[in-house]
Amino acid sequence: NLASASLEDTITPPVKVEHTQLLINGKFVDSASGKTFPTLDPRTGEVIAQVAEGDVEDVNRAVVAARKAFDKGPWPRMTAYERSKILFRFADLIEKHNDEIAALETWDNGKPYEQSAKIEVPMLARVFRYYAGWADKIHGMTVPGDGSHHVQTLHEPIGVAGQIIPWNFPLLMLSWKLGPALACGNTVVLKTAEQTPLSALLVGRLLHEAGLPEGVVNIVSGFGPTAGAAIASHMDIDKVAFTGSTDVGKIILELASKSNLKAVTLELGGKSPFIVCEDADVDQAVEMAHFALFFNQGQCCCAGSRTFVHERVYDEFVEKAKARAINRAVGDPFKSGIEQGPQVDSEQFEKILKYIRHGVDSGATLQAGGDRHGSKGYYIQPTVFSDVKDDMLIAKDEIFGPVQTILKFKNLDEVIARANNSRYGLAAGVFTQNLDTANRLMRALRVGSVWINCFDVFDATIPFGGYKMSGIGREKGIYSLNNYLQVKAVVTSIKNPAW
Ligand code: ADP
Repeated sequence: NLASASLEDTITPPVKVEHTQLLINGKFVDSASGKTFPTLDPRTGEVIAQVAEGDVEDVNRAVVAARKAFDKGPWPRMTAYERSKILFRFADLIEKHNDEIAALETWDNGKPYEQSAKIEVPMLARVFRYYAGWADKIHGMTVPGDGSHHVQTLHEPIGVAGQIIPWNFPLLMLSWKLGPALACGNTVVLKTAEQTPLSALLVGRLLHEAGLPEGVVNIVSGFGPTAGAAIASHMDIDKVAFTGSTDVGKIILELASKSNLKAVTLELGGKSPFIVCEDADVDQAVEMAHFALFFNQGQCCCAGSRTFVHERVYDEFVEKAKARAINRAVGDPFKSGIEQGPQVDSEQFEKILKYIRHGVDSGATLQAGGDRHGSKGYYIQPTVFSDVKDDMLIAKDEIFGPVQTILKFKNLDEVIARANNSRYGLAAGVFTQNLDTANRLMRALRVGSVWINCFDVFDATIPFGGYKMSGIGREKGIYSLNNYLQVKAVVTSIKNPAW
């Protein structure tokens, strides 16, 4: 019984690990080297399973399969309606296996099971249904030309797409990348993050059960500098999509340009402002700012990690934000009612604790938390700092953990300048009941998403991506299709234009 276990118990996950090999050309296979690596349970640091470790040779094998599936296989040649039906069938299978997929996701990542089962896996199905719907609605145009030619555009798949995803939302990141790539008729080599390889392998099997031809989606587990770099620099990959840190994004862009100039889209880091104006409903703003930062253990690229609060409501806000953080339910993510599980691994855990120490040393006021939670695994207490100044490291760097930093502001001009004073530009939250304030801020903020009186709204139809060093390109919605299409202009001479 999940609900009755005490905090100290480690609940046995309600799922078995079935797939640990690489998925290449429709089959589960060992890595060429025979090497494996352990994937760990963040609740304890113990090994869940040994997973085949893909490297350059495995990426090469996967690219050969994807290339063949694109150049000679049925996938880009079948009717768009057939492709669409396979993707719809896949979404049905996701729903059928909802709890199993969710349990693997939670076990490997540490996020609350209720969130995996009720939000993320349903969103996975939603994203694939959205793109399944697009498959037979992608087409070119006829354009006027110069009058003596008939001009049309063909919207064609780009070819073999390389996709490198992170560990914070293993399934959603997979869906944002595979959905549009497959709807457009591309084939794919996807590398999961080394921290969270398990859920994608199960989902990969379901894709094939849904009727996906072999070689269309190949999944390689492995590390960044080896398997990831092999994808970014591969001469037979036509496009690479990456989500992860800004530092690695730069490497991907460099490898792409040094190899074959493959097209690149990047979704990178952030330090998103969450602006609470003087007229905001403070209770609602506290709750939403809490969600904006602490959701997913604070491991969101778009986390509202600079909470700017107007001086008139600042003291009340800080008190209430502190109380909310202290009340946050932290514990085994398989337990019912838990809001926060462990961080994904020891590296992230140590990094976050270092930032917390930095915050204390730099003179910010520690209102709540500040240490690990419990004595095993990678749990961290929900932490709140007030009196944070713009030049403190905790206000500039992406902490990627449950650490809220609250800053005070006096007026809109000032908060706009300070919010934009970041190398990042991923997202922003705005809390106000004044229409003019909302209108002004939505235009002035140099970010890819503005959430007004809400945060982290991620429907499949809404484009997501960054300004500045938060990335290049958009995922989700109609905008993502362009990442996976080439436009071919076809010009035909007209013998007798004077009809
Ligand atoms: P994080 O710091 O959140 O772990 P990373 O940017 O390091 O994010 O990782 C995101 C993804 O990028 C992972 O799949 C990782 O394996 C991959 N990666 C890391 N380094 C490289 C690299 N040098 N080349 C290609 N991919 C990489």
